[in-house]
Amino acid sequence: MVEFDEFGPEKILQVHNPKIGLKGFVVIDSTARGPGKGGIRMTPGVSVDEVSKLARAMTWKTALADLPFGGAKGGICVDPHAITSAQKYRLVETFSKMLKCISPCEYVSAPDMNIGEKEMEIFAKANGSMKSCTGKPAKMGGLPHELGSTGFGVFHATKIAAKQAGINLEGATVAVEGFGNVGSFAAKYLAEAGAKIVAVSDLHGLMHDPKGFDIKKLLRTKDEKGSAIKYYEGKILPNHEIVSLNVDILVPAAIPDLILENDVMNVKAKLIVEGSNIPIKPELEKMLWENGTTIVPDIIANAGGVISSYVEYIGGNQKKMFKMVEEKISENTEIILKTSLKKGIYPRAAALEIAKKRVEQAKTKNK
Ligand code: NAD
Repeated sequence: MVEFDEFGPEKILQVHNPKIGLKGFVVIDSTARGPGKGGIRMTPGVSVDEVSKLARAMTWKTALADLPFGGAKGGICVDPHAITSAQKYRLVETFSKMLKCISPCEYVSAPDMNIGEKEMEIFAKANGSMKSCTGKPAKMGGLPHELGSTGFGVFHATKIAAKQAGINLEGATVAVEGFGNVGSFAAKYLAEAGAKIVAVSDLHGLMHDPKGFDIKKLLRTKDEKGSAIKYYEGKILPNHEIVSLNVDILVPAAIPDLILENDVMNVKAKLIVEGSNIPIKPELEKMLWENGTTIVPDIIANAGGVISSYVEYIGGNQKKMFKMVEEKISENTEIILKTSLKKGIYPRAAALEIAKKRVEQAKTKNK
C-alpha cells in the first residue's frame, strides 16, 4: 500500500492504452525543491507501491545532494524480453506523450531497470523537450552511464569515511560485491588510490585472495569474457560469503538485502559504503553501527548518478560532472558522519534528519 505522509506523494498518475498494451504510472513524491526526479523501470511486476517507495528515496537523495529536484519514479508494467524492439519503442513513445501534462514541469525522467539511453532518446523526442529526461545519448548532450559517475562517487564517499574511521586507504583491504557499472568503477578508483581489492563477486560467484587482485586485469577480463570472475583460477566461493570476509572495507554494489539479520554478528568490515540501493535494512544498519561499523548509506554514497543527471539537465559537460560528484559526495559524507558522531545516532538517521529539514524548509519557502 502506498504510504502518505506530510512529505508526499503529491501526485500519482496512472496511464492506460489497451490498444498497445501500455499500463504505466508515475509517482511524484515531492516537488518542494524542484521537479520530481527519478527513472522509469520496465518490469512485468512493477507496482505503484514499489515505485512510491523508490520515489521517496529520490526525495531524500536529491535533498541530500542539495540539487534543485524533488523525488519521483515511473513504471511500465511489461516484460521487456517478451516484446519486440518496435513494441518497446511504441510503449515508451506513448508513455512519454501521455506524461506531457507533468513532464518536464513536475517530472524529469531517467533510465532505470530495462530502460537505457535509447529509450531516453525516444522519451525526449516524444515529449519535445530535452529537459524532460536525463541519461540521453551523448549525441543529444547526455552524460552516459559508461562514465561511471556513481562508482566515482562511491570512491569519494569511501575516501572520506575511511579517514573518519581511522583506516588508511593506502593498503586497506576491500571487498566489492557486484562488478557492474557501480562496482567496477568503485574498485578501479579505490585501487588507483592504493587500496587492495581482495574480493570481488558477480553473478558467477565470489573470488577472494588476501594478496589482492590486479585491477587492470579484472577490468580487462570483464570486458573480454563478460565476467571478472573468469580471471581467477582459485576456488570460487558462494556469493553470500562476501559479508563475513576479513576486510577493512565492504562495498555492496549489486543486490538489495545483502546483509541479513543472521549476518550482523559476522561482519568484520570496519567500513561499509553502500553502492547499491538498500543492501542493508535500516534496523540492521543501526545494529552494525552499534557494533562499531561505520556505514555510508546509499542515499549519500550512490548519489553520483543523480548528480550527473543534474549536470546533464543544466547542459554541463563531463568535467563539470566529475567535479560536482566529488565535491558533493565528499562534503555530504563528512557532514553525515560528523552529525552521526555528535548526536550519537546512526548515519542513515543523521542523513534523514538533514534531508527532512531541507525539504521542510523548501515547503515553507514555497507557501
Ligand atoms: P549492473 O547491472 O551494471 O551490475 C550489477 C552487477 O551485480 C553485475 O556484475 C552482476 O553480475 C552482479 N550481481 C548480480 N547478482 C549478484 C549477486 N547475487 N551477487 C553478486 N553480484 C551479483 O548494475 P549497476 O548499475 O552497477 O547497479 C548496481 C546496484 O547499484 C543496483 O542496486 C542499482 O540499483 C544501484 N545503483 C546504481 C546506480 C547507477 O548509476 N548505475 C545508481 C544508484 C544505485
